[in-house]
Amino acid sequence: MSDFAAVLSEALGAPHVLTAPEDVLPYAFDGTAALKRQAPAAVVFPGDAAQVAAVLRIARAHGAPVVPRGSGTGLSGGSVPMPGAVVLCLQRLNRLLEVDARNHTLLAEPGVITQQIDEAAAAHGLFYPPDPGSLKISTIGGNVAHNSGGLRGLKYGVTRDYIMGLEVVLPDGAIAWLGSKCVKDVAGYSLRDLFIGSEGTLGVITKILLKLIPRPATRATLLATYPSLELAAATVSAIIAARIIPCTLEFLDQTTLRCVEDYAQVGLPTNVGALLLIETDGHPVVVEEEAARIADLARSHGALEVRRAADPAEASRLAAARRNAFSALARLRPTTILEDVTVPRSELAAMVRFVEDTARRHQLQVATFGHAGDGNLHPTFLTDERDPAAMVRVETALAEIVAETLRRGGTITGEHGVGLAKKSFLPLQRDPASFALLKTIKRALDPSNLLNPGKIFDLD
Ligand SMILES: Cc1cc2nc3c(=O)[nH]c(=O)nc-3n(C[C@H](O)[C@H](O)[C@H](O)COP(=O)(O)OP(=O)(O)OC[C@H]3O[C@@H](n4cnc5c(N)ncnc54)[C@H](O)[C@@H]3O)c2cc1C
Repeated sequence: MSDFAAVLSEALGAPHVLTAPEDVLPYAFDGTAALKRQAPAAVVFPGDAAQVAAVLRIARAHGAPVVPRGSGTGLSGGSVPMPGAVVLCLQRLNRLLEVDARNHTLLAEPGVITQQIDEAAAAHGLFYPPDPGSLKISTIGGNVAHNSGGLRGLKYGVTRDYIMGLEVVLPDGAIAWLGSKCVKDVAGYSLRDLFIGSEGTLGVITKILLKLIPRPATRATLLATYPSLELAAATVSAIIAARIIPCTLEFLDQTTLRCVEDYAQVGLPTNVGALLLIETDGHPVVVEEEAARIADLARSHGALEVRRAADPAEASRLAAARRNAFSALARLRPTTILEDVTVPRSELAAMVRFVEDTARRHQLQVATFGHAGDGNLHPTFLTDERDPAAMVRVETALAEIVAETLRRGGTITGEHGVGLAKKSFLPLQRDPASFALLKTIKRALDPSNLLNPGKIFDLD
């Protein structure tokens, strides 16, 4: 055993340190396709914040970069190691510490699985809305580090909107508490906001205080089918223009629909151009009224059929089917490259058309689905990374889609983060002063560039 591994084992206990090549291999990649795999030097599983701090100190002394990791479901390469790295896996910090029903808060460690957060809230009649498609496997720590979104983002916002406090281990091993249970708190800079979406580059999150809200009394789920994506997009614009904010407003194109139905078999129509999955929730009277207005708007904007889920069981089957879109598509070809561009909602239809034209021009197979209400598209290229010519065409198509997104006032990533996958595009979106500010913050908090170096941007 190397000196490095021996010191780590002494700090954490030998069972919580992996160094054998066959043991560390599963930590060489995350959910992102077509990135170079890199086995780490070691994978460690600390049991508390003090052990996280010990790992950071040991790694710094040995000149080894540290890569925080939750479940490794990230789609931008955030937890992919660099040579010689220690992967710091937060999976053992998986305790739900407190549900404070009087203050509507929940305190959890970062390794708790996202779905368990809402289940714990539901036991008290409370609600944790952010619901990424990966909620059955992703960790709440990974959600905070990526500021993840989900299907309910349109009405309820994203992870950031529910963070009241964070405990963070800083690169020098100091442990800082940022935030409070107070609804209002303006004592100094909002430091917790700095760590939300920081992709493991500024500190390791070891506790999370979440805001909960009252659970909506009821929910209605509607499916509207269309001959074309343009008509579906027009309905989205009409719903928003009518000042209705549904909880969920998702769209799937025909390729995605066929794959999802084949995978989940929930009775989705497969011979239509596009489908909208729409949910409205809240007081029963409001839900009934909104569901009726949404159905009218869908019909008057060209829907072929508008159907309402018969009961909560059918509604949750439909939502689960949508959550499975990525997994369903991944079965079609060896490599599934999922994009995450986001445009102002008014640009949605034009952007979808651009994606389809771009794929056609480069002879690529693309399926598109996404959070239509948020303007967040997931064009998904179905390809094979063993075919170099196809991969060059994918890269060219992605660059064109990113350029068009920015031209339309959009962003290179709505929820998956920059990591490695979007790093080359970030300077195109940021002006020089704000790009430089990112680096100034990183240098101030992590002067030895210990945490996840080379993610989001390179320090020069
Ligand atoms: C099928 C599927 C569906 C998905 N659907 C969605 C979706 O709807 N919305 C969405 O936003 N994303 C989605 N994702 C992407 C992914 O699930 C999210 O980004 C998720 O938040 C990652 O959580 P994780 O625990 O897997 O984190 P990881 O992938 O392990 O890590 C993600 C990043 O966070 C950092 N990190 C992890 N834990 C900590 C910590 N405790 N402290 C500091 N840094 C940390 C890592 O270094 C890395 O940069 C999906 C992924 C898949 C595979």
